[in-house]
Amino acid sequence: PVAPTPEQFQSTLGNAYEKFKGDTGGKNADYIPYLAHVDSKLFGIAVVTTDGKLYKVGDVEYAFSIQSISKVFTLALAMEELGPDEVLAKIGGEPTGRPFNSIPAVVDMPSHAGNPYVNAGAIATTSLISGADPVAKWAKILAFYSEASGSKLSLIDEVYKSEAATNTGNKAISMLLAKYDRIYANPFESVDVYTKQCSVGVTADQLAVMGATLANNGKNPMTGKQVVKQDNVPHILAEMMMAGLYDGSGQWAWTVGIPAKSGVGGSILAVVPGKGAIAVFAPPLDEAGNSVKAQKVIGYVADKLGINLFAAS
Ligand code: GLU
Repeated sequence: PVAPTPEQFQSTLGNAYEKFKGDTGGKNADYIPYLAHVDSKLFGIAVVTTDGKLYKVGDVEYAFSIQSISKVFTLALAMEELGPDEVLAKIGGEPTGRPFNSIPAVVDMPSHAGNPYVNAGAIATTSLISGADPVAKWAKILAFYSEASGSKLSLIDEVYKSEAATNTGNKAISMLLAKYDRIYANPFESVDVYTKQCSVGVTADQLAVMGATLANNGKNPMTGKQVVKQDNVPHILAEMMMAGLYDGSGQWAWTVGIPAKSGVGGSILAVVPGKGAIAVFAPPLDEAGNSVKAQKVIGYVADKLGINLFAAS
């Protein structure tokens, strides 16, 4: 099909915004106290195309915590450093069929870490990042995310403090990973760096640029910088397709057919290879932990623009 015109993009986003803004389904995450208090009416949509165009509607200036979408970019960084084969061998890549923060899955999964997008695999992936100490590792991760977004990103300190005070489950996971030799640096220090990466603040348009960098073979379409090695991108997107939406990943693949990753802060980032990315932020989540409005918006836009990856065009 012919690529949509800028007017078609903008009107599709506008229509999606109007159609779903009154949706009251879902509930903010509350296991991280800060997230329970974020205004649940916030709603922003941003699209960035591989030719560097930005389309947006709604609350796209509000910085929310990236949460689990960070896992995508730490995986990218780990592969920059170690290559995909070593990362796959150390972390695994199979969907777990369990909640993202499952502790029994660490015991049951053959690789123990599961895959890079569940907490166990993500904490193990963070532990792979090289650096003299946790401060250096964290600085490297933040700089990498900033390059992918084309902006200087920073930590939302209150989110970090709120999660650091309550992340006993993730600490337990790190101890189990240590038991199975599946964590590659000090366990609690790795959880701390992981908690920081989840607390990075992004706006919907910054997040869309991060996704567009993946859509554009790893090259940030705004800055022109090659951030992610081109050959690593398909691995990153394949994992998003299989495990990007927690226990909703199968249904997502079935209905929408675009690799995506969600975060409990209320955002979803979906990437259409070669074309662009859409980031949606709206805090209320469904049972699986996925933003209700973000799923609806992306499903709507995908349908209108005909971008299901599994449909021949
Ligand atoms: N920092 C959150 C946690 O570890 C991230 C969860 C998420 O967004 O899925 O629980």
